[in-house]
Amino acid sequence: MITATNPSYRLVSDHIFAVVRQNIDNNQKAFFAQQRYEPGQVVAEFSAGKTLSRPTYLTVQVGIDKHIMLQPEHLQYINHSCDPNVFFDTYTMQVVALKPIAEGDEMTFFYPSTEWDMVQPFKCFCGTSRCLGEIKGAAHINPQVLRSYTLTRFIQQQLHDRSSKEKRA
Ligand SMILES: [Zn+2]
Repeated sequence: MITATNPSYRLVSDHIFAVVRQNIDNNQKAFFAQQRYEPGQVVAEFSAGKTLSRPTYLTVQVGIDKHIMLQPEHLQYINHSCDPNVFFDTYTMQVVALKPIAEGDEMTFFYPSTEWDMVQPFKCFCGTSRCLGEIKGAAHINPQVLRSYTLTRFIQQQLHDRSSKEKRA
């Protein structure tokens, strides 16, 4: 299905508050808001479909050797951006808006906000002024840069633990 407003996308699934669309040129799926959100507003609740001890490219990290498959599954189509507009809060298990989101905007989140050390690093082409280039997980980002992002409690704890280890060394 091709819509007039997004000629290069076809609709994959409709979730009322958002839709999943597939880019016809590169087959990548993406998640688009169907309503407005204000910063801090809860976009969706999620739960752990399955908890894995090793990450995959679809899992979200909630602890050391704890990686969840997202439920509902369609949330896995929220892609990475270095200038994200949503955050996966793995403590409250909510997707929260970080900035105003307009109807039709793609929802994106910052993978290193949940992932400490990614198994499948990738080159980011988000094209935003904040783009960090290669995305490998929070462990590989300058802590000062990282702290400009909203991070899960797990990532904050990892940062804290690493810096206390460095101080002791
Ligand atoms: Zn980027």
